[in-house]
Amino acid sequence: TMEFTDRLTRVEPSATLAISALATELENEGADVVDLSVGEPDFPTPENVVEAGKDAMDAGHTGYTTSAGILELREAIAEKLADDGLEHGTDEIIVTPGAKQALYEIVQALVQDGDEVVLLDPAWVSYEAMVKMAGGSLSRVDLSETEFQLEPALEDLEAAVSDDTELLIVNSPSNPTGAVYSDDALEGVRDLAVEHDVTVISDEIYKEITYGVEPTSLGTLEGMADRTVTVNGFSKAYSMTGWRLGYFAGPEELIDQAGKLHSHSVSSAVNFVQHAGIEALENTDEAVDEMVADFAERRDLVVDLLEGHDVDVAVPDGAFYMMLPVAEDDQEWCEGALEDAHVATVPGSAFGTPGYARISYAASEERLQEGIERLADEGYL
Ligand code: PLP
Repeated sequence: TMEFTDRLTRVEPSATLAISALATELENEGADVVDLSVGEPDFPTPENVVEAGKDAMDAGHTGYTTSAGILELREAIAEKLADDGLEHGTDEIIVTPGAKQALYEIVQALVQDGDEVVLLDPAWVSYEAMVKMAGGSLSRVDLSETEFQLEPALEDLEAAVSDDTELLIVNSPSNPTGAVYSDDALEGVRDLAVEHDVTVISDEIYKEITYGVEPTSLGTLEGMADRTVTVNGFSKAYSMTGWRLGYFAGPEELIDQAGKLHSHSVSSAVNFVQHAGIEALENTDEAVDEMVADFAERRDLVVDLLEGHDVDVAVPDGAFYMMLPVAEDDQEWCEGALEDAHVATVPGSAFGTPGYARISYAASEERLQEGIERLADEGYL
């Protein structure tokens, strides 16, 4: 028999993927499942981006690239970051097959046995798994009592951060809450990071998807440039989940260390996908605006429908998720909702916050309406 490593046996498979798999199984049995569990936009990739990918393939961009990614893409990324107020040279950027790989490489570079990592709960499921695989321990701050806002919970954050803290992960707009943290909240993070010499990951993968607010990039705050690693990707803003393209930017010493893991594992992101990424960064303003406008309408629709059933939610300012308060046993609630109402959601406990279910509103208005109606009809609201 095989003996597996501690670093893997202490980790669970991704809960969001597990629910999606169960939903697919029901569908294969003929059920009409309203899938509100998925973490991907339901729009096609913008046509010009698809064309750029095809053109790159036709032009023969099918070989290995520089490990960190082709220079033209890193230049386009540097320009995008500069627009957000972040100054990074092309040698401070690594292009990865998805933001997930970027986060994995950063955690591997910074966290080892005994190191402590602070998460803001509810937090995206893979942060915990990545930290555990690296041998780190978690210190978690619960934001469920403050409508998922960080500012009123800064005292709790202060209690969670210590000199043992190696890394703090901030994700604004947040998956799964949709919360966008205020500048005051981010300044609170900065003060603690500086005081305790903590590195901060700013996962900005939903930065382009916001409703009337402009999220500040943590790395732009005074004192944060040399301790922030900014992560972003193409999956959400440009509806490119399956292309697998993301990146991180940070201090050169981190890039050098993480770059070793990058080159010895994935080598590089896919060549022609990187070319499509340039087009996505440079020529999709209109397409992104349209998608965000659609998401905004859907958000309002779901909030209104829930209100009609006397359910109050913390209204999200970004991303395409919201947290629905459900029964204490949220796992049981989600399984029941899937089996009885054929509506798929993700239990809050997967994100460290029981008592909630995450709804993704990356679905058509008809399906959202149908889903909420069914939940109400089956007694789940
Ligand atoms: N970070 C957050 C908060 C996410 O929600 C996701 C995807 O669900 C990712 C990172 C990874 O995205 P990708 O690897 O597709 O770029």
